[in-house]
Amino acid sequence: MNNPAAEIKQANPVSVRQQPIATQQAYRHFPYAQAEQNQLMIVSSYATGRDKRFEFMNVEAGKALMQMIYAAREEGIWIIPVSGFRTIEQQQQLFQNQIKRLGSAQEAAKVSAPAGYSEHHTGFAVDLTDGKFPKQDIKLQFETTDAYRWLTRHAKEFGFEMSFKQNNFQGISFEPWHWRYVGTPDAAAIFSQARNQR
Ligand SMILES: [Zn+2]
Repeated sequence: MNNPAAEIKQANPVSVRQQPIATQQAYRHFPYAQAEQNQLMIVSSYATGRDKRFEFMNVEAGKALMQMIYAAREEGIWIIPVSGFRTIEQQQQLFQNQIKRLGSAQEAAKVSAPAGYSEHHTGFAVDLTDGKFPKQDIKLQFETTDAYRWLTRHAKEFGFEMSFKQNNFQGISFEPWHWRYVGTPDAAAIFSQARNQR
């Protein structure tokens, strides 16, 4: 849809921090450290042809995700991971695309995180879609799918929760597709700032 090469030339309005500072936020997003490659596992291959890519997650979170996907499948629900771990550079490109689309970093930050501030950097967050409705990937209509309804009932059993609910305190747009793993104390600790605020 966009030409990333053209957009990446724009000045980056948000400085990138490899080492997050715990109390500092950018446009109400919390800082997150980028996971090490050796902490990650492949959780899906997505799309076909030139667009084909592999998605990664933290091993612990990825195993829990696999269990959740299999459990859903038993009930005829087809959950597909669309986007897992992202590097700072990948997020920077996504955020720049949103700035171009929406006109300002402030508006972009309502629908996307600046580089260094995405839950996807941790390897513990994942965007999910319904395999039966691929056109609703990363769209609000995902809310109308069987996969979403199943997730709202069962994700908790597998340690997953929705990060950006309706009217969340961060003022970030409702993202029914975006889920984070908080099933262990270590995983929950990564998101403690976001989870503890109201
Ligand atoms: Zn996401």
